[in-house]
Amino acid sequence: MRLILPVLAALASTPAVAQEAPRWSLAIHGGAGVIERDKLSPAQDKAIRAALNRALKAGSAVLEKGGSAMDAVEATIHVLEDDPHFNAGRGAVFTWEGRNEMDAAVMDGRTRKAGAVAGVTATRHPISLARAVMEKSDHVFLAGSGADAFSREQKLEQADASWFATPERRQQLETLKAKKLSAIDVDHKYGTVGAVARDANGHVAAGTSTGGMTGKRWGRIGDAPVIGAGTYADDRACAVSATGSGEYFIREGVAHEICARIRFKGETPQAAADAVIAEVGAMGGDGGVIVNTPSGAMAWSYNTPGMYRGRVSAGSAPAVAIYRDEP
Ligand code: ASP
Repeated sequence: MRLILPVLAALASTPAVAQEAPRWSLAIHGGAGVIERDKLSPAQDKAIRAALNRALKAGSAVLEKGGSAMDAVEATIHVLEDDPHFNAGRGAVFTWEGRNEMDAAVMDGRTRKAGAVAGVTATRHPISLARAVMEKSDHVFLAGSGADAFSREQKLEQADASWFATPERRQQLETLKAKKLSAIDVDHKYGTVGAVARDANGHVAAGTSTGGMTGKRWGRIGDAPVIGAGTYADDRACAVSATGSGEYFIREGVAHEICARIRFKGETPQAAADAVIAEVGAMGGDGGVIVNTPSGAMAWSYNTPGMYRGRVSAGSAPAVAIYRDEP
Protein backbone atom coordinates (compact mmCIF):
# COMPACT_ATOMS: atom_id res chain seq x y z
CA MET A 1 0.00 0.00 0.00
CA ARG A 2 2.75 2.34 1.01
CA LEU A 3 4.40 1.74 -2.38
CA ILE A 4 1.27 1.87 -4.51
CA LEU A 5 -0.28 5.07 -3.18
CA PRO A 6 2.49 7.45 -4.24
CA VAL A 7 2.46 5.83 -7.70
CA LEU A 8 -1.29 6.32 -8.04
CA ALA A 9 -0.95 9.87 -6.83
CA ALA A 10 1.76 10.52 -9.39
CA LEU A 11 -0.37 9.03 -12.16
CA ALA A 12 -3.39 11.08 -11.14
CA SER A 13 -1.37 14.26 -11.25
CA THR A 14 0.15 13.50 -14.67
CA PRO A 15 -1.73 15.52 -17.28
CA ALA A 16 -3.24 13.27 -19.97
CA VAL A 17 -0.85 13.95 -22.82
CA ALA A 18 -1.74 12.09 -25.99
CA GLN A 19 1.23 10.01 -27.12
CA GLU A 20 2.52 11.94 -30.16
CA ALA A 21 3.21 9.70 -33.14
CA PRO A 22 6.77 10.10 -34.41
CA ARG A 23 6.89 12.36 -37.45
CA TRP A 24 8.52 9.58 -39.43
CA SER A 25 9.88 6.10 -38.88
CA LEU A 26 11.87 3.51 -40.79
CA ALA A 27 12.59 -0.19 -40.28
CA ILE A 28 14.95 -2.32 -42.35
CA HIS A 29 16.12 -5.91 -42.66
CA GLY A 30 19.03 -7.57 -44.41
CA GLY A 31 17.80 -11.15 -44.15
CA ALA A 32 17.07 -13.73 -41.46
CA GLY A 33 18.54 -17.16 -40.77
CA VAL A 34 20.88 -19.16 -38.59
CA ILE A 35 22.71 -16.00 -37.62
CA GLU A 36 24.43 -16.67 -34.31
CA ARG A 37 27.47 -15.15 -32.66
CA ASP A 38 29.75 -18.07 -33.55
CA LYS A 39 28.66 -17.96 -37.20
CA LEU A 40 29.90 -14.43 -37.92
CA SER A 41 33.47 -13.22 -37.54
CA PRO A 42 33.92 -9.99 -35.55
CA ALA A 43 34.83 -8.29 -38.84
CA GLN A 44 31.64 -9.50 -40.54
CA ASP A 45 29.53 -8.50 -37.54
CA LYS A 46 31.04 -5.02 -37.61
CA ALA A 47 30.72 -4.57 -41.38
CA ILE A 48 27.08 -5.68 -41.38
CA ARG A 49 26.16 -3.34 -38.54
CA ALA A 50 27.94 -0.50 -40.34
CA ALA A 51 26.02 -1.21 -43.54
CA LEU A 52 22.69 -1.34 -41.68
CA ASN A 53 23.54 1.99 -40.05
CA ARG A 54 24.46 3.54 -43.41
CA ALA A 55 21.17 2.35 -44.85
CA LEU A 56 19.20 3.82 -41.93
CA LYS A 57 21.08 7.08 -42.37
CA ALA A 58 20.25 7.28 -46.08
CA GLY A 59 16.55 6.70 -45.42
CA SER A 60 16.44 9.06 -42.43
CA ALA A 61 17.99 11.85 -44.49
CA VAL A 62 15.06 11.62 -46.92
CA LEU A 63 12.39 11.43 -44.21
CA GLU A 64 13.92 14.17 -42.06
CA LYS A 65 13.66 16.58 -45.01
CA GLY A 66 9.96 15.71 -45.39
CA GLY A 67 10.57 13.32 -48.30
CA SER A 68 8.13 10.55 -49.15
CA ALA A 69 8.12 7.07 -47.67
CA MET A 70 8.73 5.68 -51.17
CA ASP A 71 11.82 7.86 -51.71
CA ALA A 72 13.13 6.77 -48.31
CA VAL A 73 12.61 3.08 -49.08
CA GLU A 74 14.46 3.42 -52.39
CA ALA A 75 17.39 5.37 -50.89
CA THR A 76 17.71 2.89 -48.03
CA ILE A 77 17.69 -0.15 -50.28
CA HIS A 78 20.28 1.35 -52.65
CA VAL A 79 22.81 1.19 -49.82
CA LEU A 80 22.02 -2.44 -49.04
CA GLU A 81 21.99 -3.45 -52.73
CA ASP A 82 25.50 -2.04 -53.16
CA ASP A 83 26.85 -3.83 -50.09
CA PRO A 84 28.11 -7.36 -50.85
CA HIS A 85 27.18 -8.69 -47.40
CA PHE A 86 23.57 -8.93 -48.47
CA ASN A 87 21.86 -11.09 -51.06
CA ALA A 88 20.65 -8.23 -53.28
CA GLY A 89 22.28 -6.30 -56.10
CA ARG A 90 26.05 -6.70 -55.58
CA GLY A 91 26.51 -9.93 -53.64
CA ALA A 92 23.33 -11.58 -54.96
CA VAL A 93 23.40 -15.37 -54.81
CA PHE A 94 24.04 -17.47 -57.93
CA THR A 95 21.56 -19.52 -59.90
CA TRP A 96 22.33 -23.15 -60.75
CA GLU A 97 23.72 -21.92 -64.06
CA GLY A 98 26.07 -19.50 -62.30
CA ARG A 99 24.21 -16.27 -63.01
CA ASN A 100 22.81 -13.51 -60.80
CA GLU A 101 19.08 -13.12 -61.40
CA MET A 102 17.47 -10.64 -59.08
CA ASP A 103 13.92 -9.97 -57.89
CA ALA A 104 12.57 -6.74 -56.36
CA ALA A 105 9.30 -4.99 -55.54
CA VAL A 106 7.97 -1.72 -54.17
CA MET A 107 4.53 -0.69 -53.01
CA ASP A 108 3.17 2.73 -52.11
CA GLY A 109 0.60 2.61 -49.32
CA ARG A 110 -0.92 5.94 -50.33
CA THR A 111 -2.17 4.74 -53.72
CA ARG A 112 -1.60 0.99 -53.42
CA LYS A 113 0.37 1.24 -56.63
CA ALA A 114 3.04 -1.41 -56.93
CA GLY A 115 5.91 -2.42 -59.19
CA ALA A 116 7.93 -5.61 -59.32
CA VAL A 117 10.59 -7.37 -61.36
CA ALA A 118 11.85 -10.95 -61.41
CA GLY A 119 14.98 -12.53 -62.83
CA VAL A 120 16.65 -9.27 -63.85
CA THR A 121 20.35 -9.33 -64.59
CA ALA A 122 21.76 -5.94 -65.48
CA THR A 123 20.26 -3.12 -63.39
CA ARG A 124 22.57 -1.91 -60.65
CA HIS A 125 19.60 -1.18 -58.38
CA PRO A 126 16.75 -3.62 -59.02
CA ILE A 127 14.61 -1.70 -56.50
CA SER A 128 14.68 1.32 -58.83
CA LEU A 129 13.63 -0.88 -61.73
CA ALA A 130 10.65 -2.08 -59.66
CA ARG A 131 9.81 1.54 -58.96
CA ALA A 132 10.07 2.40 -62.67
CA VAL A 133 7.62 -0.42 -63.45
CA MET A 134 5.22 1.16 -60.94
CA GLU A 135 5.64 4.72 -62.17
CA LYS A 136 6.53 4.45 -65.84
CA SER A 137 4.64 1.43 -67.15
CA ASP A 138 1.02 0.28 -67.22
CA HIS A 139 2.02 -2.91 -65.47
CA VAL A 140 2.83 -4.23 -62.04
CA PHE A 141 5.17 -7.16 -62.71
CA LEU A 142 7.83 -7.63 -65.42
CA ALA A 143 10.23 -10.55 -65.72
CA GLY A 144 13.45 -11.67 -67.38
CA SER A 145 14.81 -10.20 -70.59
CA GLY A 146 11.74 -8.00 -71.05
CA ALA A 147 12.35 -6.37 -67.67
CA ASP A 148 16.03 -5.92 -68.56
CA ALA A 149 14.99 -4.22 -71.83
CA PHE A 150 12.55 -1.95 -69.97
CA SER A 151 15.39 -0.97 -67.64
CA ARG A 152 17.58 0.06 -70.58
CA GLU A 153 14.70 2.01 -72.12
CA GLN A 154 14.19 3.82 -68.84
CA LYS A 155 17.90 4.64 -68.84
CA LEU A 156 18.43 3.14 -65.40
CA GLU A 157 22.03 2.55 -64.41
CA GLN A 158 23.23 -0.73 -65.93
CA ALA A 159 25.97 -2.92 -64.45
CA ASP A 160 28.06 -5.78 -65.85
CA ALA A 161 27.61 -9.31 -64.55
CA SER A 162 30.95 -8.85 -62.77
CA TRP A 163 29.48 -6.09 -60.56
CA PHE A 164 26.96 -8.44 -58.96
CA ALA A 165 29.19 -11.55 -58.72
CA THR A 166 31.28 -12.06 -55.58
CA PRO A 167 33.71 -14.94 -54.87
CA GLU A 168 31.87 -15.82 -51.62
CA ARG A 169 28.56 -16.35 -53.41
CA ARG A 170 30.23 -18.37 -56.18
CA GLN A 171 31.80 -20.58 -53.51
CA GLN A 172 28.37 -21.12 -51.95
CA LEU A 173 27.05 -22.36 -55.30
CA GLU A 174 30.00 -24.70 -55.71
CA THR A 175 29.53 -26.07 -52.18
CA LEU A 176 25.82 -26.56 -52.80
CA LYS A 177 26.54 -28.55 -55.95
CA ALA A 178 29.44 -30.56 -54.51
CA LYS A 179 27.65 -31.51 -51.28
CA LYS A 180 24.19 -31.71 -52.85
CA LEU A 181 22.88 -29.26 -50.24
CA SER A 182 19.64 -27.32 -50.32
CA ALA A 183 19.81 -23.59 -50.97
CA ILE A 184 19.37 -22.74 -47.31
CA ASP A 185 21.73 -25.41 -45.98
CA VAL A 186 24.65 -23.99 -47.89
CA ASP A 187 24.67 -20.75 -45.92
CA HIS A 188 21.88 -21.00 -43.31
CA LYS A 189 21.05 -17.38 -44.03
CA TYR A 190 18.63 -15.47 -46.16
CA GLY A 191 20.17 -12.16 -47.19
CA THR A 192 17.28 -10.41 -48.85
CA VAL A 193 17.03 -6.72 -48.00
CA GLY A 194 13.93 -4.69 -47.25
CA ALA A 195 12.67 -1.38 -45.91
CA VAL A 196 9.34 -0.10 -44.61
CA ALA A 197 8.93 3.63 -44.07
CA ARG A 198 6.33 5.99 -42.66
CA ASP A 199 6.74 9.61 -43.78
CA ALA A 200 5.81 12.89 -42.13
CA ASN A 201 2.48 12.88 -43.99
CA GLY A 202 1.53 9.54 -42.48
CA HIS A 203 1.99 7.50 -45.66
CA VAL A 204 3.71 4.13 -45.67
CA ALA A 205 5.75 2.33 -48.35
CA ALA A 206 7.55 -0.99 -48.61
CA GLY A 207 10.38 -2.35 -50.74
CA THR A 208 12.22 -5.66 -50.97
CA SER A 209 15.21 -6.69 -53.12
CA THR A 210 16.90 -10.08 -53.43
CA GLY A 211 19.01 -12.47 -55.44
CA GLY A 212 16.63 -15.26 -54.39
CA MET A 213 18.05 -18.64 -53.36
CA THR A 214 21.47 -20.10 -54.16
CA GLY A 215 21.24 -22.69 -56.93
CA LYS A 216 17.73 -21.69 -57.99
CA ARG A 217 16.73 -23.06 -61.39
CA TRP A 218 13.98 -23.20 -63.93
CA GLY A 219 13.25 -19.50 -63.55
CA ARG A 220 12.31 -19.89 -59.88
CA ILE A 221 10.86 -16.70 -58.35
CA GLY A 222 10.60 -16.19 -54.59
CA ASP A 223 8.24 -14.14 -52.45
CA ALA A 224 10.16 -10.85 -52.51
CA PRO A 225 8.69 -9.52 -55.78
CA VAL A 226 5.27 -11.13 -55.31
CA ILE A 227 2.95 -8.35 -54.16
CA GLY A 228 1.14 -9.55 -51.04
CA ALA A 229 3.72 -12.24 -50.26
CA GLY A 230 7.11 -10.61 -49.59
CA THR A 231 6.07 -7.00 -50.08
CA TYR A 232 2.88 -5.02 -49.38
CA ALA A 233 1.87 -1.50 -48.32
CA ASP A 234 -1.54 -0.03 -47.57
CA ASP A 235 -2.11 3.25 -45.71
CA ARG A 236 -5.21 1.65 -44.16
CA ALA A 237 -3.06 -0.90 -42.35
CA CYS A 238 0.72 -1.19 -42.71
CA ALA A 239 3.79 -1.75 -44.86
CA VAL A 240 5.59 -5.10 -44.79
CA SER A 241 8.82 -6.53 -46.20
CA ALA A 242 9.77 -10.18 -45.71
CA THR A 243 12.77 -12.47 -45.89
CA GLY A 244 12.84 -16.24 -45.65
CA SER A 245 11.87 -19.42 -47.45
CA GLY A 246 9.98 -17.73 -50.25
CA GLU A 247 7.79 -20.66 -51.25
CA TYR A 248 6.12 -20.65 -47.81
CA PHE A 249 5.78 -16.89 -47.74
CA ILE A 250 3.99 -17.01 -51.11
CA ARG A 251 1.63 -19.76 -49.93
CA GLU A 252 0.78 -17.81 -46.77
CA GLY A 253 0.46 -14.46 -48.55
CA VAL A 254 2.49 -13.15 -45.63
CA ALA A 255 2.67 -9.39 -46.25
CA HIS A 256 -0.98 -9.01 -47.19
CA GLU A 257 -2.09 -11.31 -44.39
CA ILE A 258 -0.36 -9.12 -41.80
CA CYS A 259 -2.02 -6.00 -43.22
CA ALA A 260 -5.40 -7.78 -43.29
CA ARG A 261 -5.15 -8.81 -39.63
CA ILE A 262 -4.36 -5.23 -38.64
CA ARG A 263 -7.13 -3.80 -40.82
CA PHE A 264 -9.94 -6.23 -40.10
CA LYS A 265 -9.10 -7.64 -36.68
CA GLY A 266 -7.56 -4.52 -35.20
CA GLU A 267 -4.46 -6.44 -34.14
CA THR A 268 -1.31 -4.59 -33.18
CA PRO A 269 1.49 -4.83 -35.78
CA GLN A 270 3.46 -7.05 -33.39
CA ALA A 271 0.56 -9.45 -32.78
CA ALA A 272 -0.25 -9.65 -36.51
CA ALA A 273 3.39 -10.23 -37.50
CA ASP A 274 3.89 -12.88 -34.78
CA ALA A 275 0.71 -14.73 -35.75
CA VAL A 276 1.58 -14.85 -39.45
CA ILE A 277 5.19 -15.89 -38.86
CA ALA A 278 3.86 -18.64 -36.56
CA GLU A 279 1.64 -19.83 -39.42
CA VAL A 280 4.61 -19.86 -41.80
CA GLY A 281 6.52 -21.88 -39.19
CA ALA A 282 3.65 -24.35 -38.79
CA MET A 283 3.81 -25.03 -42.54
CA GLY A 284 7.56 -25.64 -42.30
CA GLY A 285 8.87 -22.26 -43.46
CA ASP A 286 11.26 -19.90 -41.76
CA GLY A 287 12.23 -16.25 -41.98
CA GLY A 288 10.98 -12.91 -40.78
CA VAL A 289 9.23 -9.63 -41.49
CA ILE A 290 9.45 -5.96 -40.69
CA VAL A 291 6.28 -3.88 -40.33
CA ASN A 292 5.62 -0.15 -40.23
CA THR A 293 2.28 1.60 -39.82
CA PRO A 294 0.66 4.97 -40.57
CA SER A 295 0.85 5.72 -36.83
CA GLY A 296 4.61 5.14 -36.96
CA ALA A 297 4.48 2.04 -34.74
CA MET A 298 6.94 -0.60 -35.99
CA ALA A 299 7.40 -4.30 -35.40
CA TRP A 300 9.57 -7.17 -36.47
CA SER A 301 9.08 -10.87 -36.07
CA TYR A 302 11.14 -13.90 -37.13
CA ASN A 303 11.36 -17.60 -36.33
CA THR A 304 15.06 -17.99 -37.12
CA PRO A 305 17.94 -17.57 -34.63
CA GLY A 306 18.70 -14.10 -35.96
CA MET A 307 17.76 -11.38 -38.40
CA TYR A 308 19.81 -8.43 -39.65
CA ARG A 309 17.57 -5.53 -38.70
CA GLY A 310 17.43 -1.88 -37.79
CA ARG A 311 15.06 0.93 -37.00
CA VAL A 312 15.00 4.65 -36.49
CA SER A 313 12.36 7.31 -36.04
CA ALA A 314 12.21 11.09 -35.73
CA GLY A 315 13.79 12.09 -32.47
CA SER A 316 15.20 8.68 -31.57
CA ALA A 317 18.62 7.25 -32.25
CA PRO A 318 19.05 4.52 -34.88
CA ALA A 319 19.33 0.97 -33.54
CA VAL A 320 20.62 -2.09 -35.36
CA ALA A 321 20.67 -5.70 -34.22
CA ILE A 322 21.61 -9.13 -35.52
CA TYR A 323 21.06 -11.83 -32.88
CA ARG A 324 17.89 -12.86 -31.10
CA ASP A 325 19.13 -11.83 -27.65
CA GLU A 326 19.60 -8.22 -28.71
CA PRO A 327 16.77 -5.83 -27.85
N1 ASP B 1 12.81 -14.70 -49.61
C1 ASP B 1 13.86 -14.86 -50.58
C2 ASP B 1 13.44 -15.85 -51.64
O1 ASP B 1 12.79 -16.81 -51.31
C3 ASP B 1 15.13 -15.33 -49.99
C4 ASP B 1 15.68 -14.44 -48.90
O2 ASP B 1 14.92 -13.96 -48.05
O3 ASP B 1 16.90 -14.22 -48.87
O4 ASP B 1 13.80 -15.66 -52.78
